[in-house]
This record gives sequence, C-alpha cells and structure tokens, in this order.
Amino acid sequence: MAKNPKAANNRRPTRKPRAAAAAAIALSGDIEDLAAPSGSIKAAGAAAKAVRAELLRWYEANRRDLPWRRAGERGGGGGEEERAYAVWVSEVMLQQTRVPVVVDYYSRWMARWPSVHALAAATQEEVNEMWAGLGYYRRARFLLEGAKQIVEKGEFPHTASALREVRGIGDYTAGAIASIAFNEVVPVVDGNVVRVISRLYAIPDNPKESSTFSHTAMFELEAVGGFILIWKLPHGPEQFFLDYREITGQLVDPSRPGDFNQAMMELGATLCSKTKPSCSQCPVSSHCQALALSSQNASVKVTDYPRVVPKAKPRCDFAAVCVVQIAQDFDQGIAYATGNDNLFLLIKRPEKGLLAGLWEFPSVLVNEGKTDGLNRRKEMDKYLKQLLRIDVKRRSSVILREDVGQHVHIFSHIRLTMFVELMILNLKDAVDKLCDEGQDSTKLRFIDEKAVESMGLTSGIRKVYNMVKDFKEKRLTEQSQVPTRKRSRRLK
Ligand code: SF4
Repeated sequence: MAKNPKAANNRRPTRKPRAAAAAAIALSGDIEDLAAPSGSIKAAGAAAKAVRAELLRWYEANRRDLPWRRAGERGGGGGEEERAYAVWVSEVMLQQTRVPVVVDYYSRWMARWPSVHALAAATQEEVNEMWAGLGYYRRARFLLEGAKQIVEKGEFPHTASALREVRGIGDYTAGAIASIAFNEVVPVVDGNVVRVISRLYAIPDNPKESSTFSHTAMFELEAVGGFILIWKLPHGPEQFFLDYREITGQLVDPSRPGDFNQAMMELGATLCSKTKPSCSQCPVSSHCQALALSSQNASVKVTDYPRVVPKAKPRCDFAAVCVVQIAQDFDQGIAYATGNDNLFLLIKRPEKGLLAGLWEFPSVLVNEGKTDGLNRRKEMDKYLKQLLRIDVKRRSSVILREDVGQHVHIFSHIRLTMFVELMILNLKDAVDKLCDEGQDSTKLRFIDEKAVESMGLTSGIRKVYNMVKDFKEKRLTEQSQVPTRKRSRRLK
C-alpha cells in the first residue's frame, strides 16, 4: 500500500506499463471478457477458467512429493486440523529457506511435535534448539506463541480472517492454511505467485516497489480484457497501482482453492523462475502476455516482469565477540585441548530485538572506526564488568587471550562483522563466584563442551564456536610439532 496518498498520487507514470497494457489489450481477443463494470475486476471468464484447468492438470501430474502435502491424508477425524498444522509449520519454515533444507527440519519437528497440542507444551528453549540454523528466529517464537493461543481457544481457526488473529500469522500463511486445509476460496500471494501473475498479465510493477498487496479505496479498477487490468485513478488516468492479492483472488479455482494456490506457487518455484523461465514447458504459456510481448518485440523479455527492485544496502555493524573458556586445569596444553572439563560462558540476548532470547558468546557492538584489537578488548572488558558483573581480573587469571579471526554474518538488513577472540581463564574460586552478586543467573550459563555441541545455537554463533575449535586444534598441532623439530635438528 502506498503509505502516503499524496506521494502515491504524485508518482510518475512509467512508460512500460502503458505500452505493455496496450499491447496486451490487442492480444486479448475474448470479447466476452470485456467491459466489466467500473470499480470491479474481471479476471474471470473463459480465459481464467482455461488457466485454472491447465494449471491444475499440470500440478496433478508434476507436483513435488513433499511431506507436508501428505499430512492429514489418512482420513478419519482430525484430518483437516492435522493438515492445517502441517501447512502452518511448513509455510513458516519455507519463508526464506529452500525446500530441501526445510524437508529435514520439518520431519524432525513433526517427529517431536506432531500436533499443535504437542507444540503448545514445548518450551521456547526447545523450539529454538529445533529451529537452530533456519534463521529468522522470531518465526519460531511466533509458532510457539500461536500454538499456545490456538490450544487455549480450543480449536484451530478455519478461516483466513480468524487465522490472522493468531500470533505471527499474516495474510500469506492464513491464506495457505485456510485454502489448503479448509478449502476456503482465498488467494495465497508469495514472491513466486507475484512473478507468475506479473508475467501472465504483463504487469511490470513490483509490489516491493510502491504498489500494494492490500486493498485500498484510493483507486478505481476497470477491467478491459480477460487478462488485462488497467487501473484508472480518480486523480489521473496515467497512474498504475497493483493489488496482486486482488488479481490472484479472482483467479483462484472456487472448487479447488488449495490445489490452485499450491499450483501457482509450484509454477513460480519451478518453471517460472526469476531468471530462466522454462516457457516451453509451461502449462499456461498460451495465456502469458509477457511471453506474447517478448515474441513480438525482441527488446522485451519475460524476465522484465516484474521489474527488479534493487535491494536496500544492509547496515554494516561490527561486534567484538569473546569466547570465554573456563579451564579446569591451567596447563596451556590442556586448556587448548577439547574436553568436557572446559566450560564456556553463554549469555542470553534480550527478549526483544534481533535474535531475541537466544544464547550467544559475550558480544558487544563497536563503532566502525574503532574495531582495532585494543578498543575491542576495552569494550569487551567494560561489557563483562558493567553488564554481566564479571570481574575477570579480580576473580581469575587470564591464561590466554588471542584474536581468532573474523566472521561476517548476513542478516536480512544487517551485515555483521564479528571479531572473535578466545579468552581462557583460570578461576580463583568456584565458577559460580566469577560473577558478582546481583547478576541474574537466568541470563548467563556456564556449559561444558558436550552441551555446546548439542545445543541449538544460531548459525553465526555456531560458526564462531567452530572457528575457536579450529584455532585450538591448530595450536595443539603446533605445540606437538615443536619438540619433534628440535629433536630432528639435533639429529642432523
Ligand atoms: S510462459 Fe513463461 S513467463 Fe509465462 S508464466 Fe509460463 S513460465 Fe512464466
């Protein structure tokens, strides 16, 4: 949705939509589909019926056999809810993650929490552990909160509007669950569907750019062809706004909405790819306006639809990360060695914001111009002392403190460079005395190596841990080689 109506109305028209629309009008020959009343969309009609039929036929023959598609097919009571839960979990996992990766996560998730009731009884810790590596941890938190909400209410909501009331479920997931599990005639619009619709109708506007998925009263819609929709604005005929949900909603097969939505997504995910669409195998190629335009004009490519929106540059952050290892024996060789005697300090992140509530090694953001080793250590010491109440100097002796390397982790909007150091401490007292009194013990943990290996760490933190492991192994190898070399020199 255009956030500012004025800005929306002032938007400069682009030439391509007009040209595309004009050319597409010429291509649409079905007079029965013309002249829809002003203010309505008329994507239905004979052509739309043909698209539905051809798409569904193709889907039946080619659909991928995915575990969530088999859920609830056993028959008997509860099938719909079982399917709804499966669709919900899989769709949340599939956001930003490839299908082969999700299949494995999904199977393990379902083996552990086969129903919404089972999930509702889980803890956030357990869910985070299961989710570790999938990224976007907020989704895992919402799944758990949503499950609790559904169980509390007593039943799985059956309609898209009721599903949207559940924590973390938006238009997309609500549409997927309602149509696939409960047969509601609602559209599901993800990036794949936008691409297919954009090409079918030769609409170059990209919803990420300026137009909208949601309904708005700002403009009037007028259909002038079976597949052509031109938006006439009250404030000027040259402005184009798109509502892909609206268009897709007109196409959804009323008798098989779930299969239709899956077929659209499947087409976008397989044949109608971003850069190399396989138009010769496409079941709806004879209806595809982008393909028709490209065959008439060599300068037009189907991949021009929808227009590519340049990604916003991610913010660059820098962090000092200190892997604090408590050595139970202060001999350096033993301290480097991997073994269950060593303990590692983990800190729980705040419950809000990036990676909320997840465990990490002590980390502190540093300014871009101040990433030198001296400043990083100063910031880390301050963090340990002031925020965690850990007084390293008073409570321990530092056996080793060395830089291990850097790791760059890319979040959706942040490029985080982590400067990793290893600090090995020998404690003067028991480990629980390392922190001053008053430290909230639920926010930090000392865990042994075995526990670090098995716990659900984010992929960035896992990478940091592996860097430290490699570093220690390298040092051990170097240590073991020194006497050998000395010996061999003596022999010469
Ligand atoms: S014909 Fe090509 S561009 Fe058009 S919908 Fe099919 S795969 Fe996509």
